[in-house]
Amino acid sequence: MKILLTGAAGFIGSHLAEALLASGLRVVGLDNFNDYYDPALKRRNLTGALQNPAFTLKEGDIRDGALLEALFSRENFEAVIHLAARAGVRPSLSNPLLYEQVNVEGTIRLLEAARLHGCRKFLFASSSSVYGENPRMPWSESDPDLRPISQYGATKLIGEHFCRVFHQAYGFPVTAYRFFTVYGPRQRPDMAIHKFTRLIWEGTPIPFYGDGSSLRDYTYIDDIVAGLLAGLEADIPFDVFNLGGGHSITLAQLVENLGRRLDRPVLLDRQPAQTGDVPATLADISRAGRLLGYAPVTSLETGLDRFIEYFLAERGRG
Ligand code: NAD
Repeated sequence: MKILLTGAAGFIGSHLAEALLASGLRVVGLDNFNDYYDPALKRRNLTGALQNPAFTLKEGDIRDGALLEALFSRENFEAVIHLAARAGVRPSLSNPLLYEQVNVEGTIRLLEAARLHGCRKFLFASSSSVYGENPRMPWSESDPDLRPISQYGATKLIGEHFCRVFHQAYGFPVTAYRFFTVYGPRQRPDMAIHKFTRLIWEGTPIPFYGDGSSLRDYTYIDDIVAGLLAGLEADIPFDVFNLGGGHSITLAQLVENLGRRLDRPVLLDRQPAQTGDVPATLADISRAGRLLGYAPVTSLETGLDRFIEYFLAERGRG
């Protein structure tokens, strides 16, 4: 099977690329190496995948219709796994049009190209952000109350709607996956665990928003990859799945945990809660468990140790 993997050089994409290749699949990775964070990191993320002859890298933008047409005509993809996006929540507030163009227009272009070229599967990376501040926790896919509170969350929800409409209109098989705060080696440098680790290590105060009681459901990267591989295997015409860890911890607990693991004091720069940040996230993962056999296995302790090992190795490289 040949797969188009968008966002292949990113945090999740580079891990997934390696896992797909390890299962014997051929993968074309499409990424534009934008500078949302250091593109050199993204190039490093792909070191492993690029050593495998079954991996091809295409540098380009998912909004480029001519590029997509040429790629789909030439490659005969059986499946598309669409991870490329503007992924940060807070920056979406100051750049909503860019988020709309990449996350909505880019997704529509890929859905259209995949359908016209007879792909048999389309997997879309959505987000827990679609739930907004929904008070009914744990969040379930069957809950119709989806009111994102960030522009980022809104683009992901619109992306899901287009997935559903493409399925309804053409019978095109599409599944969407709502990831809950993913962490592990190669995590984006702007994400909390990576940022806090860096600041604690450097002895710099952590911008600490709110009173520390906000709750997050953290999901280790290998569990997300396992969920996506199961989704690729499954014969599901249309569905939406939560991929989360199924537990949440407070911001204060996370920061204390990182300080303990790094054996360094934690300095806090207390700030008001941020617009766009939800107070809590928690996934009901029973649907993914039932239909995909999804069962996260990595504890937060193990996952944080692996992240810190990666972080220190990167530091060692300078
Ligand atoms: P990432 O930024 O590391 O990866 C995204 C990749 O997409 C990057 O390599 C980037 O260069 C590429 N990209 C962005 N715009 C592009 C474009 N126009 N054309 C081609 N490539 C483009 O982010 P990530 O954390 O790996 O997230 C991957 C996906 O998972 C995203 O869709 C994100 O919204 C979603 N998601 C992530 C999390 C998380 O906790 N990391 C949570 C929920 C959802």
